[in-house]
Amino acid sequence: MSETAIHYRTCPLCEAMCGLAISHADGRIVAIRGDDADPLSKGHICPKAVALQDIHTDPLRLRAPLKRTSTGWAEIGWEEAFAEVTQNLRSIRDRHGEQALAAYFGNPTVHTPALLMVPGLIEAIAGAQIFSATSVDQLPMMLASLQMLDHQLLLPIPDVDCCGFLLIVGGNPAASQGSFISGGDVMARIEGIRQRGGRVVVIDPRRTETAKQADEHLFIRPGTDFFLLAAMAQVIFAEGRVRLRELAPWVDGLETLREAVAEFTPERVAPKTGIAAAKIRELALALGDAEQAAVYGRIGSCTQEFGGLCNWLLYALNIINGSLDRSGGMLFPTPPIDLVRLGPRGSFARRRTRLRGLPAFGDEFPVAVLAEEILAPGEGRIRALITHAGNPVLSTPNGRQLDRALTALDFMVSIDLYLNETTRHANIILPPAGPLERPHFDAGLPLAAVHASAKWSPPLFAAPSGSYQDWQIMVELAQRLHPRFSGRLVHRLVRRLGLERVTDWLLRLGPYGTHAALLDEDASWTQKLRILFSPARDGLSLHALRQHPHGIDLGAMQPGRLMRHLKRRNTGIHLAPSLYLADLPRALARLTESADAAPRDSLLLIGRRHVRSNNSWMHRIPRLIKGPNRCTLLLHPDDAAHRGIAEGDRVTVTSRVGAVTLPAQLTTDILPGVVSMPHGYGQRDAGASTAAAHGGGSMNDITDEQFIDALTGTPVLNGVPVTVTR
Ligand code: SF4
Repeated sequence: MSETAIHYRTCPLCEAMCGLAISHADGRIVAIRGDDADPLSKGHICPKAVALQDIHTDPLRLRAPLKRTSTGWAEIGWEEAFAEVTQNLRSIRDRHGEQALAAYFGNPTVHTPALLMVPGLIEAIAGAQIFSATSVDQLPMMLASLQMLDHQLLLPIPDVDCCGFLLIVGGNPAASQGSFISGGDVMARIEGIRQRGGRVVVIDPRRTETAKQADEHLFIRPGTDFFLLAAMAQVIFAEGRVRLRELAPWVDGLETLREAVAEFTPERVAPKTGIAAAKIRELALALGDAEQAAVYGRIGSCTQEFGGLCNWLLYALNIINGSLDRSGGMLFPTPPIDLVRLGPRGSFARRRTRLRGLPAFGDEFPVAVLAEEILAPGEGRIRALITHAGNPVLSTPNGRQLDRALTALDFMVSIDLYLNETTRHANIILPPAGPLERPHFDAGLPLAAVHASAKWSPPLFAAPSGSYQDWQIMVELAQRLHPRFSGRLVHRLVRRLGLERVTDWLLRLGPYGTHAALLDEDASWTQKLRILFSPARDGLSLHALRQHPHGIDLGAMQPGRLMRHLKRRNTGIHLAPSLYLADLPRALARLTESADAAPRDSLLLIGRRHVRSNNSWMHRIPRLIKGPNRCTLLLHPDDAAHRGIAEGDRVTVTSRVGAVTLPAQLTTDILPGVVSMPHGYGQRDAGASTAAAHGGGSMNDITDEQFIDALTGTPVLNGVPVTVTR
């Protein structure tokens, strides 16, 4: 055996972007540890990182294109695969129009360099119906950025390293490892708040792993976070505690917001939320008492009936407390590739879905309509689908219906590492090189990082000869689907120069880059010309990153980025966009609704996540899935006794759309009237036997594609009415 070497790279599995030190010898992995010298994660990793070696060696990971035939799957060559995909997609588009094509991008799309090529592929199928995991995740948050700050990617992130009071609404960083608080060991950073004498409060219908490490946890009824936030805002106005600080000259709509929340007094919302009026008042005042406070919401705040309104007020509370763009409050990361400068500003409701008329966010329709848009006949029906790194049968609402709908497609192609519940419907599967067989650079996730850094990870192992990376597959498809495809400049360059050279230029033009002054509005033309015609050496470039295998530390988040954005765009901070005001009557109606309106014996289902799982795609790995069954229904003992259910009993959970059966786990960590099931389970395909043996049903077999936040089209995944029987 030759000597062991160490390879440093960024873990591509989740938003935390941990640095890995991978010991290897003779083409095999010996150990995977955290990289102590990584500027962001400083040695932290979670159990999933070690599973990278399992993905690399997994015999079930696809390594050549697959074609579905009448007798099963057959491996085919890349040229044949591309030719068949192109011919089918073009033929369907020619016969039925552009709208007959659709594409779905899964969550890992953001975790690969292919992210930079996705807009290019979308342009090549212009007019197609686009869907992604965004609409079962953070869409309401991005909408708030667009509506209130004028850019969908200008995302406020809690400055956990300096914060004195952190209020977490519907988020569980202990399980997610930091979603929209990217940065290794986020729980240590949150613990740091307490060590500094600060306070951490978690609002959640379940006493989550994060809540157990906080100073205080408050149970809230699912779907009522908006009412809590509105009452907190009402108290801040009523008590004269509004403090806009440096934001004051930029803010409009303050009086309109005051009037909008006036009716949501703590006393009125307390019965709805389950949080006492005095506690709501105390929380609101504590925000103002803390010099550095941040209100942070995550997926639970988005995937609920009033997710749009909820995220509006999450932003609004930070604004009226003067916490936005302020050290220790909510800051705006400055990433090495600045997608706020280079990416689209965003749009809302420029298009609407054919059947339900739900609004598009940017290029995307809410995924809640995907199945019906395939199944319902008529002009504009989806007949062909491209998927990338997604398993919407398990990860989007009413997955069984989508499972059936996919069989009705004329053609489907999946860019994916695995045959799974979704890709099994594809006619052709195009598997990209594995995560250790390609270079890695995070272009999108630093937009949410708590500390700026950059790292280029070269491939650890050579990809099989002739294989393609995700982005190369996208380029190939874009080119073949649209031979005269021009695309935006960056996509044309990716096609001609390759991703590495384009990444290099994006880094050079970025805020830390060798050529940053070219995009700096304060730089004079003389300075810009000097930069352009001189060999600029100082600053970030791919060359510089290659010299620093552990990554380069670009410093802590700084205040001021929002102000620079507002000045550049000549805009302001909008506290009361009309879109939200128009949705208020819906919330007011719910506030006045009597408790008897809920069906008798109904419980409310919420989701959950475990640190050893990663949405729907890592349950097949034995080292992650081993141990006690985690696919259980959490149920309060009072609700269990009422139904004659004991610990470990198999229970059936039934909603409007379906039923799943799984073991009951009794706990006082959940609010009475609420049950919780993890998402991402339900693997049932051949080849996923490990997952199938450990997994229960899919939570999305009982979430309801018709139960949505009417404002944003985001499906309700937290607060789904269900019945539970033994
Ligand atoms: S938290 Fe785990 S999965 Fe996420 S980047 Fe770090 S090691 Fe990878």
